[in-house]
Amino acid sequence: MYCIVGGGISGLVAAYRLRVAAGPGAVITVFDPADRLGGVLRTERIGGQPLDVGAEAFVARRPEVPALLAELGLAARQIGTTGARPLIYSGGRLHPMPDGTLQGIPAHASSLRGLVDDATIARIADEPTRPFTWRPGADPSVADLVGDRFGDQVVTRSVDPLLAGVYAGSAATIGLRSAVPTLATALDRGMASLTDAVREALPPPVTGSVFGAIDGGYRVLVDELVRCADVRWAQVAVERIDRATRGWEVVDDEGTRWPADAVVLAVPAPRLARLIEHLAPRTAAAARRIAVASTALVALALPGGTPLPQQSGVLVATGERLRAKAITLSSRKWGQRGNVELVRLSYGRFGDNLAANTGDDDLLDWATQDLADVFGIRVDPVDCHVQRWIDAMPQYGPGHGELIAELRAGLPATLAVAGGYLDGIGVPACVAAATRAAASLALTRVAR
Ligand SMILES: Cc1cc2nc3c(=O)[nH]c(=O)nc-3n(C[C@H](O)[C@H](O)[C@H](O)COP(=O)(O)OP(=O)(O)OC[C@H]3O[C@@H](n4cnc5c(N)ncnc54)[C@H](O)[C@@H]3O)c2cc1C
Repeated sequence: MYCIVGGGISGLVAAYRLRVAAGPGAVITVFDPADRLGGVLRTERIGGQPLDVGAEAFVARRPEVPALLAELGLAARQIGTTGARPLIYSGGRLHPMPDGTLQGIPAHASSLRGLVDDATIARIADEPTRPFTWRPGADPSVADLVGDRFGDQVVTRSVDPLLAGVYAGSAATIGLRSAVPTLATALDRGMASLTDAVREALPPPVTGSVFGAIDGGYRVLVDELVRCADVRWAQVAVERIDRATRGWEVVDDEGTRWPADAVVLAVPAPRLARLIEHLAPRTAAAARRIAVASTALVALALPGGTPLPQQSGVLVATGERLRAKAITLSSRKWGQRGNVELVRLSYGRFGDNLAANTGDDDLLDWATQDLADVFGIRVDPVDCHVQRWIDAMPQYGPGHGELIAELRAGLPATLAVAGGYLDGIGVPACVAAATRAAASLALTRVAR
């Protein structure tokens, strides 16, 4: 009997993998108090069209999601972007997304011309001539390294917009090894300068779409996972896990005790600590050290024909007066469906409480104003939806890899963790971590 605590993508993939390993006879229970399964993978109908109001995409060159879709018979539902590119909003105006950068870190000064001032361009050009030292294995914040070598404007105008899009954080809160692992590896090999390391780490140009998504939204994947995993859904919150004579007891918020041979804990890091602090204090302490950010998403359906640019969206530099931190022009990015223009605006960064404390009406007013400020359009939406993701975005700070090794080391056998705070925040990394969790439990059972 397996219990999975948390029914987001991590919990559902773990459940599905356990079903495949254990066969039809196993009882697999997923605990989640939400109104539907999927966690941050949530698709709503807006303007009559399905639109993801949490995660909307996955990195297509990673194998996990395409392989999972193929396994579930959903390969034909994978779609790519139209080829429209994003823009950066900095200094109150729009700039093209620079080419030849790694998470916004330039390989050439010319990549950032127009986005940063001339003194910064000269400083980037001159970087390889300045003495550079790197301690193999070091994990500074991205801001510390990039700011030191290239200057603050590269951090706030080129790197921050990208990291804010991924983590709702900034270069100051994210460690280099998590944000740009290939760059850290290149530096460890001994490069003469940061510029050389970026050039070394730049991936070859991709043919085809960098990002994939699912026709019909992530709901299609969630529904199929639930069906194939054949889970029993207990729509309750879990309070804690207790040891039992044989295995575990999962205790829900109504006091019901559910026996389990093995448990996957697939809740966000802040929830994990409470469930297991009496069993695994090292793990709980490590989980508590993972900071989280909240974000609110405003999804709008604008009338068909609204004159939006042929771009996939806008990433916003740090320090702008604009309130949104990112705008996705979904109909431009993934292709038009129906007679509406679907747009998503996100609000809130690490360290602020905008997502929790701003009312729906204010968020909708901000969205209208931001669209006017960025694109010069003022139009009444035909439909809208506000979605809040509180404490949903873990910050991969400096030393995150060691912290996660510590977190896993403190876990008793037959308890496993899965989640977006472990080995990467993206959906592909969640699929990988959940697969690892399920494999560790399936092996333990075989060994007993
Ligand atoms: C707004 C946003 C946009 C994103 N965009 C992308 C993107 O485009 N591409 C990408 O690859 N990644 C994206 N990500 C990251 C990715 O979506 C997440 O890392 C991933 O979905 C997390 O999945 P999870 O199952 O680990 O956690 P969650 O989805 O948070 O699921 C955890 C579940 O646990 C449940 N739970 C909590 N407490 C308890 C309890 N006590 N008992 C039982 N259940 C409990 C919750 O109800 C929830 O359903 C985005 C994240 C956010 C927040």
